[in-house]
Amino acid sequence: MQESPASLKPPTEKQDVSTPAPADGVYAEVAVPVHVFQTFTYRIPSSLQHLAQLGARIVVPLGRRQVTGYIVALHTASTLDPNRVDSAVKEVYEILDSIPVLTPELLDVTRWVSDYYAAPWGEVIKAALPPGISPSIEQFVSLTELGHARVGNQEDATTTHPLLNLISTEQEPSVEALSKSLGRSQALKAIRELERAGLLERTHRASTIYVRAKRQRAVRLTNRSDAGSRFANKKLTPAQQRIINALVQSQSMTLQELLSVADAGASTVNTLKRRGLIEFFEQNLRRDPLGGQSLPATENYELTPEQTGVLTEIEERLRKQTYAAFLLHGVTGSGKTEVYIRAMRVALQLGRSALMLVPEIALTPVFSRRLRAHFGDRVAIFHSALSRGERFDEWTRVRNGKARVVIGTRSAVFAPVENLGLVVVDEEHESSYRQQDSPQYNGRDTAIVRAQRAGAVVVLGSATPSLESFHNALTGKYSYLSLSNRIANRPMASARLIDMREVFDEQKKPQVFSKELLRAIEETAEKGEQSIVLLNRRGYSSFVLCRSCGETVQCPNCDVTLTYHRSERVIVCHYCNHRVAAPTQCPSCEGKYIYYIGEGTEQIEELLKERFTALRIARIDRDTVSRRRKFEQILQEFSEGRLDILVGTQMVAKGHDYPNVTLVGVVSVDAGLALPDFRAAERTFQLITQVAGRAGRGELAGQVLIQTYHPGHYALRHASAQNYQGFYDEEIRHRQNLVYPPFVSLATLLVRGPELSRVRADALTLRKELDQANTERLSRVLGPAPAPLARLKGEHRYQLLIKSRSRKQLRAIVDRAIRAAVESGINARSLNLEIDPVSVM
Ligand code: ADP
Ligand code: ZN
Repeated sequence: MQESPASLKPPTEKQDVSTPAPADGVYAEVAVPVHVFQTFTYRIPSSLQHLAQLGARIVVPLGRRQVTGYIVALHTASTLDPNRVDSAVKEVYEILDSIPVLTPELLDVTRWVSDYYAAPWGEVIKAALPPGISPSIEQFVSLTELGHARVGNQEDATTTHPLLNLISTEQEPSVEALSKSLGRSQALKAIRELERAGLLERTHRASTIYVRAKRQRAVRLTNRSDAGSRFANKKLTPAQQRIINALVQSQSMTLQELLSVADAGASTVNTLKRRGLIEFFEQNLRRDPLGGQSLPATENYELTPEQTGVLTEIEERLRKQTYAAFLLHGVTGSGKTEVYIRAMRVALQLGRSALMLVPEIALTPVFSRRLRAHFGDRVAIFHSALSRGERFDEWTRVRNGKARVVIGTRSAVFAPVENLGLVVVDEEHESSYRQQDSPQYNGRDTAIVRAQRAGAVVVLGSATPSLESFHNALTGKYSYLSLSNRIANRPMASARLIDMREVFDEQKKPQVFSKELLRAIEETAEKGEQSIVLLNRRGYSSFVLCRSCGETVQCPNCDVTLTYHRSERVIVCHYCNHRVAAPTQCPSCEGKYIYYIGEGTEQIEELLKERFTALRIARIDRDTVSRRRKFEQILQEFSEGRLDILVGTQMVAKGHDYPNVTLVGVVSVDAGLALPDFRAAERTFQLITQVAGRAGRGELAGQVLIQTYHPGHYALRHASAQNYQGFYDEEIRHRQNLVYPPFVSLATLLVRGPELSRVRADALTLRKELDQANTERLSRVLGPAPAPLARLKGEHRYQLLIKSRSRKQLRAIVDRAIRAAVESGINARSLNLEIDPVSVM
């Protein structure tokens, strides 16, 4: 049994079918993808035993349902824990794989994730596999011998149950189909009765609607025709000869391709087929995420001495074929990506494979095309914007060893690459490596663990390392590598803070743009260069305010203000998607002075369009990103110089490489600083540094202008000076004084529910249990307090924060407290434990 971290209450499962366990047999321990913190044991019937392998998908009964789970251990009667099996142990329905979907290594890594993040193992495994790969299960009924005999007995025809006749004429109908024609409860009742009488039996089969390889008919030569010379004697028409030649050249083709290449008709193909010279067969068709896209030229730069030094160190460790961790701290534009690519090449030369994680979908088209240019078909791409078919095909190419370089977002950390030699985590500080939904794992930290277990080298790269990683480098946990100069010694962009308080004093009202920024945009365009204008928010304006009564318009389900979206004229909750038409009068006092506070990317785009009518302006934010083609098209146009200004949220700050961008303007940075999160300063520092890295990537010098009401803030001061060390020194002191990571481990425990008094009472009970478990006083418990989002989707939320110098101790007391609380009647489903939260908001 999995020693589950937060052993929440196991379900009390009714086990009604009793198949007595034989003296010896084979048992499967199965992790199921439901919110349950234990594995289950099933008996494998002898007909399926040849398929029983670790990591295979398996169909089992669970309560009254059937689920597709995963075999995580195999036992014989003698190795089985007697507590796990009794006479009520159930039988496996079906095993779906002859080649297991999970390698032993992935079983191990998912197990670690499950333990560390207190997430059900089956859910982690499900998240590790391409979506849609686990089919739903259908039940079919067929007659037993007895049933056949009964139906065959004509004299009895009137007394024969109508269902039996139906089953015999329809030949194995599905339970679903029978339910449709007879009514569900009627059908189920009859099936149960007839089953008990031994007249029919049920079988379970995977439903046909799930993702699998796309197949296509193709043509090839038969082995009777393989020697090209033999055709010389046979009389072939010119068209037949062209077909044979085309197939000799390319082995196989689809019929369509063949007909067009050989300029022949279908009848010619049929004649050759009749003569046994060619044949049809089914082949897998690859759905390629980069299909049809042009690849950049691969350039074989001579590495700079700094790059060479860094690569040499990584290469040395790669050759040792043991675990090593590096933090590659390289300013933007210092050539980190080039180092990753060379290191990957070394890994491949050593016969090993490579995995690279990137934080954003937005980055992958650029990166993956670059990798494809270098490594061709050996590259597989994993990210959530791919279609299910594309994801399945990419995953399959990795699983069968055809692809040995994987690039992808967070979940690519579970790609089934074997013989892993190198793991790269680019922009390791990014919070998007953290998955917010269950299972709540961190892709970066999982990558480190995976590298450890695979004996691989892991390289964490960033221009602005997370405080934790830099701390780890200082304490020697990671080897520190640095690239401190930009390629070709291009200067770092000069960054300047614009004090918006002075702008306000001068203009006597709040301004979106300072004169200085507007002038800079104008001058940049006049020189034929490009600008990026950044805002750290989405939507038209962040909230709606009545100037008469001061009321803001709140989401009825969540504790947040609604955001106005001008193009649709609606106000939207960004948590629960509650949307209503934008009000024209105040909902509470009916006043007419509705006022839109704050600026969104849409408004900025509009203001700029009004002001600079001749310039070509486009916008990118999360709304555009959800439309993948549109997003890629805008980036393409911008990179080809067909746009002058790109307006956007933090998306525009990352990764892209536009040599003609010489100005970056940050319209409003203060909202990010004001967030009630201990990482607010770090995030703002990272954002400014990253965005400054977008300016002056090419031959041209760049400038960065940052508008703020807090020009004295240390995060802004150090970011504008591009001074990482300065920021780190100041920030780490705050972390130490306030007792935050990296000095302690952190967990949050959230209690939620529809009833406030209940939520509060449960949270207090948890506090008491935590204090009781915390006997050695090694941990510190804070709260309960209303969570920063005190209401979400109609539920109240209270939160406890637990800090500890010992991670092990922290887990121990939290687990003990949860167990006690659940035993005292608190619903386990109302609790959410988050280990290493990226934000405590
Ligand atoms: P980073 O990932 O650190 O931001 P990149 O690897 O993208 O930097 O490199 C910045 C730019 O410099 C890219 O256009 C890249 O093609 C180019 N570049 C990288 N290494 C070299 C080199 N050794 N010589 C010339 N150009 C290089
Ligand atoms: Zn809401």
